[in-house]
Amino acid sequence: MFFDPLYFLIVGPALVLSIVAQIWVKRAFGKYSKVTTSGGLTGAEVAQRVVQNAGLGVRVERVGGFLSDHYDPRSRVLRLSPEVFDGRSISSVGVAAHEAGHALQHARGYLPLQWRSALVPITSVGSNLAWPLLMIGFIIMTMMPALGMKVVLAGIAMFSLAVVFQLITLPVEFDASRRAVAVLANQGFVSAVELEGVKKVLTAAAMTYVAAAAAAVLQLLYFLLRAGVLRRND
Ligand SMILES: [Zn+2]
Repeated sequence: MFFDPLYFLIVGPALVLSIVAQIWVKRAFGKYSKVTTSGGLTGAEVAQRVVQNAGLGVRVERVGGFLSDHYDPRSRVLRLSPEVFDGRSISSVGVAAHEAGHALQHARGYLPLQWRSALVPITSVGSNLAWPLLMIGFIIMTMMPALGMKVVLAGIAMFSLAVVFQLITLPVEFDASRRAVAVLANQGFVSAVELEGVKKVLTAAAMTYVAAAAAAVLQLLYFLLRAGVLRRND
């Protein structure tokens, strides 16, 4: 079961998609990080203005790392990576506006973001327990099928929490990008031509979340098949 060809057959395409998405986002970000916007603002300035214009008490801070940008709802802080924080490029401004989009979601009580936040603690417990339960369950199954199946199903239930989390992440990410594009266009931070570049960068970034969700769903499918296949063999 540790080197199961069925696993690679089912989950393989999603793993390939993940790699493609990673390359795609790096390329898109790299390409548009060389193009300075006509507005000439840094990512930090754009994020600051977006949250200020919306009347939000959100701080904008610099954080280390590449594409480590995120909005922290608990402390109401928008953390931007150095390249995004200081950059005046289409990529920097696009990512900064996307993160500001999460701050807007938070302020407006956007439901999928609330569900996602509520799922964070449950998901971390679930994904920590899922793999040990599945491993142990499949091993027990070879000796005691009925007991093994119970443990496997418990593992599958835990893993399902992670899948739900990945799926809820999708509307949250797409909506943040939608808000970013709208706010950049309405508040005149970028030109119409530059906005097309922003869309390309944000679409590429969204693909990494789609790939992660696809991988999670396919992994779940694999576990379900695997549990069912073993039962039929008995
Ligand atoms: Zn995001």
